Amino acid sequence: MKIGIVGCDGRMGHMLVAEVLDTEGAVLAGGTERDGGPALGKDVAALAGREPVGVHAVADASDLFTVSDAVIDFTAPAATVAHARLAAEKGVALVIGTTGLSDADQAEIDKAAERTAIVQAANMSVGVNLLIGLTRQVAATLGEDYDIEIVEMHHRHKVDAPSGTALALGQGAAEGRGVNLNDVADKVRDGHTGARKKGDIGFATLRGGDVVGDHTVMFAADGERIELTHKASSRAVFARGAVRAALWCKDKEPGKYNMADVLGF
Ligand code: NAD
Repeated sequence: MKIGIVGCDGRMGHMLVAEVLDTEGAVLAGGTERDGGPALGKDVAALAGREPVGVHAVADASDLFTVSDAVIDFTAPAATVAHARLAAEKGVALVIGTTGLSDADQAEIDKAAERTAIVQAANMSVGVNLLIGLTRQVAATLGEDYDIEIVEMHHRHKVDAPSGTALALGQGAAEGRGVNLNDVADKVRDGHTGARKKGDIGFATLRGGDVVGDHTVMFAADGERIELTHKASSRAVFARGAVRAALWCKDKEPGKYNMADVLGF
């Protein structure tokens, strides 16, 4: 399967290119970078620290979608929306890892999924997707006497908060409780906030160093606390999941899929 990588010079772009090169059944179709960026014209594999393969980074994503069976996108929201439109137009599968999307961005992606297969997940690791399922289950079992707080830490370069994964865990907890996350999410606390509201799902964000991604879901009651934690120590886990998702897309009907679908959870 020919797989294209948009944003091939990003932190995740490098991991994705390497993973495609190392995966049986996957062929690197090419890579793009943003217009005017320093990576343009450079060998895509060399950018990822590998032996050159004679495929060079270009700015025109349209060409890449023409020669790819699936494209993997870990870029930025505006770019991802444009890529989703291209995927729909060309009937090419798209795997989206980009986070920090607005509701309007998401609506565009959902529209594109009517015409092609799109796998989207805020976190492509097997462990986190298992954690989301466990969070849903524990939230359904424990009830509102257990306050739910989600704490995440990422590297100093991350631009969105709370992380897409923290929000996905919050979504899992809300589903478990049968509530709408938007009605109970408490994402910012500063100053005289008053006491915690029963049923809220709280978020706390830490940023620093080179942390790949730590997430803890706490269920805190009087007298005891349960904590579910996942720590990613290498971005390779996300790249592995994304390439697995791209291969899984072969012959799939148009639609929006998530990693639980890909992993068969
Ligand atoms: P990064 O800034 O290192 O990489 C993004 C790359 O995309 C950059 O090289 C940038 O130049 C490129 N880009 C931007 N606009 C483009 C365009 N129009 N065309 C082509 N390339 C373009 O960021 P990163 O750490 O690799 O993360 C990227 C995204 O992936 C973020 O939203 C992050 O939160 C998300 N992420 C998701 C997962 C997951 O498992 N779903 C894991 C890690 C990161």
